[in-house]
Parts: sequence; structure tokens; C-alpha cells
Amino acid sequence: EAPSYDAIILGAGAAGLMCAAVAGQGGRRVLLVDHTDQAGKKILISGGGRCNFTNIHTAPDRYLSANPHFAKSALGRYRPQDFLDLVEAYGIAWHEKTLGQLFCDGSAKQIVAMLLEECAKGGVELALGRPVGAVEHGDGLYRVAVGDQVVRAAALVIATGGPSIPKMGATGFAYDLARRFGLKVVEPRPALVPLTLGGNEILFRELSGVSAEVVAKASKTGFREAALFTHRGLSGPAILQISSYWRHGEPVAIDFLPDRAAGWLREAKRAKPRGTVRRVLGEALPERLAETLAERLGLEGELAAQTDRKLEEAERTLAGWRFHPNGTEGFAKAEVTIGGISTADLSSQTMEARRVPGLYAIGEAVDVTGWLGGYNFQWAWASGWAAGQAL
Ligand code: FAD
Repeated sequence: EAPSYDAIILGAGAAGLMCAAVAGQGGRRVLLVDHTDQAGKKILISGGGRCNFTNIHTAPDRYLSANPHFAKSALGRYRPQDFLDLVEAYGIAWHEKTLGQLFCDGSAKQIVAMLLEECAKGGVELALGRPVGAVEHGDGLYRVAVGDQVVRAAALVIATGGPSIPKMGATGFAYDLARRFGLKVVEPRPALVPLTLGGNEILFRELSGVSAEVVAKASKTGFREAALFTHRGLSGPAILQISSYWRHGEPVAIDFLPDRAAGWLREAKRAKPRGTVRRVLGEALPERLAETLAERLGLEGELAAQTDRKLEEAERTLAGWRFHPNGTEGFAKAEVTIGGISTADLSSQTMEARRVPGLYAIGEAVDVTGWLGGYNFQWAWASGWAAGQAL
């Protein structure tokens, strides 16, 4: 007979590692499988190699899902402090960078080493560099082809993530497997991804490399962070955040001067009539950006030469500059995937499929997507923990 386990976990990423450690330490015999030869590859490259492992402002409203309530239970039971306690127990030095984002002082390798050590404590068996083949379910057992072996268990956990960054080993495997068991999949799309500009907005590409702190808005949601012009369009944290809310055909509105009160350009005209719009914009924005914006506003020459009405109009334009992205840079550049295995088919307590006993789904494979800034790992830890406990 095939080697037998209590649980087989597919995907040794953030969620799979956490789930395996918790289940293993709970006394379960666990096999953790990955087709790449290294566990936690995305953890290793995350946060520029320092892993933004959680966010202390974690709250359900910072996640996108067809069911905004689904994540509450898992996030409430395994909190940022719980992960931080683990990080500290391993003596891993950390710091808060900005906006509640916690990073390692040293390296993301420490987080992977910690999770592997936690797995070892639970006696988890690792099968890395093994492709996963056919998955069968019958007589209350899952039989999975792993490399050239078939293994079996009463529980199977889908932790293979989403299709973002395929060159790291990401696949749509989770969705295919879930569909085979009758679970619905909410249409996946790239998120936390740069947006591309075309048409006459291509000219903004000349600003490639220029960044400014702005408020970027799409579908009424706004983020105040840096935006960056690139040779393909728009990027930077504010744009990545807004990309999760943006839909094809919609504009993105950028407030280039979020700290300026209404009437500021008219006041600038009173104070410095001989100044230019370009010059006053340049006091708050990078020189090249100020130049381009002034040009596009058609406001060249001295402030004194502009009517108040024109200046008011310019203020309004600058406070909600409408860009019309023609797309995103796609899964190849997306930090995460929005959509995925429908939460309607899963228990929010255990992550088990409601109608398929013993089948679980966790992490990015599920239709729960966090903001930029450590929220996605926190979901991976929390959902992995919930399933690990249930196993
Ligand atoms: P993953 O970590 O992607 O793990 C899935 C695992 O399944 C992988 O090991 C993969 O090899 C394996 N797998 C896939 N298909 C198969 C298959 N067919 N058979 C077997 N195994 C398979 N989030 C943050 O919170 N903070 C950050 O700083 C951060 N930085 C990021 C930087 C980058 C460049 C990227 C791409 C993402 C970043 N993220 C960050 C997002 C975060 O990495 C993911 O949300 C998180 O890794 C999801 O965890 P997961 O376990 O669900 O999936």
C-alpha cells in the first residue's frame, strides 16, 4: 500500500509551512510537498529580501474578497502578535518600517529557517522538488502521485498559492484541483501590480524614475503613498495598492498635492505674481514632474498672467489628475492574485471545503487578498494556522 499520512499539504510556501508546523506539532503525521526544490521561495524574495512578514494594523477591512467577512475568524484567532512572538522566540531581529509594516533586520532566510525548524519540531516530512500528479479521492482517502510515488491521507490541503510570478514556480494548480472537486473559483486577476499607460498618456513615460507622494484613487478607494512613473506606466506603493481596486476601463485619479488647501494657486499668484506655475509646483514636486504637469495644464508664463478661474481649474485638475491605464503588467509582475477558490465553498473556521470532507484550502489560493505591506503573509499564517489546528 501507498505510504500513509494524516495530512498531505500541497505547497511549501508561507501558508503550507505554517499549516504543516501546527498540524505536526499537534501530533499529526504530515507530508509537505512542493514541486520546486526550495521551501518558501516567495518568502525569500519578499520585502526586497527582508520579508515584510506582518502588519500590526491587520484588520479584515484591509482584505479584498467576494465575502469581506470570511477572513475575520482566522485573522482574529491568529494575530500579528502571535507571529511576532514566534519571530522573537527565534531571536530574529525586526523593525517597523512604515505604516505598521514589520520587516526582518537581517534576511528573509531567517523566516524560512524558522518555519522549517517549526516543521521539524512537528516531525513534518518534506518532499521538495517533486511534481504533483494525479489526485484521487475515494473511501475517505486522498491518493496523490508525488514524484514517482503515490501517497495517501484522510486530509488534503491545497496551499499552492496563486499564479503570480510564474517564474518563481507559481501555477494555477490550486484552481484546477479545486474545480475538480466542485469548488467554485472567483475569476483570478493580477493585483499589487504596476499599471500601463498608452495613448497620449505614453508621454508620461518620459518621467520614468520620477516619484512623488500622492493620493491615488480608484473606485472611491484611495491610498496615500509614493507613486512612480515607469517606462511602461505607473508603479510605486500607491499604484500597487490601487491596482487591486482598479478595473479595466476605469480611470485612476491622482492627487499630486494632497496637502494643499483649496485656493493655494491663487494665493501663490498674490504672493509671487512674477512666479510661474512650474516654479510653484516645483516647490512641492520633483522638477521634471512639475514641468510636465505645468505644460499639460497649458499654464506657461507668469502667474500674474493667469486668471483666477484658470488657476482654480488647474488646482482641481492637479487634485484629481485622471489617468486611463490600458492594462496591468500582468501575473508576471503581480505581487499577488485577487480572486481564487471561492470562500462560499469553505468553512471560515477551518478552511475545510463545506461539501468535500478532508479537503482544505489556505493562503493565496483562496479568494482573500490583502493590501500591500505584510497583510498577505498575515493571511497565509492565519489561514494556515486555522487549518493546521483543525487537522
Ligand atoms: P506561496 O508562498 O506562493 O506558496 C505556494 C507554494 O506552492 C510554492 O512553494 C510553489 O512552488 C508551490 N506550488 C505551486 N504550484 C505547485 C504544484 N503544481 N505542485 C506543487 N507545488 C506547487 N506578502 C507580504 O505579506 N509581504 C511581503 O513583503 C511580500 N512581498 C512579496 C514580494 C514578491 C516579489 C511577491 C511575488 C509576493 C510578495 N508577497 C508579500 C505576497 C506573498 O508572497 C504571498 O501572498 C504568499 O507567499 C502567499 O503564500 P502561499 O503559501 O499561499 O503561496
